[in-house]
Amino acid sequence: MIIARTIETLQEAKKTLQGSIGFVPTMGALHHGHLSLIRQAREENEYLIVSIFVNPTQFLEGEDLDAYPRKEEADRKICELAGVDILFMPTIDQMYEEDELCIGAPAIRGYVLEGEKRPGHFDGMLQVVMKLLNLSSATHAYFGKKDAQQLALITQMVKNYFMDVTIIPCEIVRDERGLALSSRNAYLNHEEKERALCLSRALKRATKMVMAGELHVEKIKQEMSAVLSEADRVEYIAIVNREFKALEKVEIGNTIILVAAWVGKPRLIDNLWI
Ligand code: AMP
Repeated sequence: MIIARTIETLQEAKKTLQGSIGFVPTMGALHHGHLSLIRQAREENEYLIVSIFVNPTQFLEGEDLDAYPRKEEADRKICELAGVDILFMPTIDQMYEEDELCIGAPAIRGYVLEGEKRPGHFDGMLQVVMKLLNLSSATHAYFGKKDAQQLALITQMVKNYFMDVTIIPCEIVRDERGLALSSRNAYLNHEEKERALCLSRALKRATKMVMAGELHVEKIKQEMSAVLSEADRVEYIAIVNREFKALEKVEIGNTIILVAAWVGKPRLIDNLWI
């Protein structure tokens, strides 16, 4: 495995690659969620590039940029064992210069839910993903459905800018009790981890209601809200179509149910595609 810390090293290493390139961008502190993307990319491509970069432009003032979990040594071993060809770990200076040209999130889809609660987050995310897709020359790039809105906006960016890469959505990986894996789960103590299960429980409750024929969004949200009372603070419960427009009734095959809530220190998100 080649470890590239500079853009020059990455470009040099890429010269030998001829064939499909799978790419998995991450912020590190790798867990089984990341690993499922890495494994899928490994199986489906001749070459595999993974990046680890805690991107400052997608963190808002007061968010956990400095405290974000960093586990470089363990991440390197995981990538090596998973058969990664190039691990790209640039510094901030390698990625950004002063007074950059920026692309912005779309006015509607980019400013609801996460975009509303974290204004500017998606601008920074799209900026870095654009850079990383260009740098990796990926033919296929893998993103988790865990970050549903992120996935939708990246797919839109690739379409709107005619970028020559296929975006592959990957299923959410959960622990044995249902908690969606996240690097930020490392902040949870034992008691908070128990309470954090209310996010996936609320989504399970919604599934049961839909399966029983209840399609009214307000009724489903009410029940979800009761289950989510174990969280310290619920930021949103949303039921939207795949375009992220609010729905009054669940449309089977075209609905995403999303929750964001604070449990202890971290803000957690989870969702379900129906
Ligand atoms: P991050 O390191 O949090 O930026 O995540 C890197 C990629 O891994 C993103 O595409 C995430 O959506 C994806 N990811 C994170 N957690 C999970 C999970 N539990 N299941 C599936 N994909 C995930």
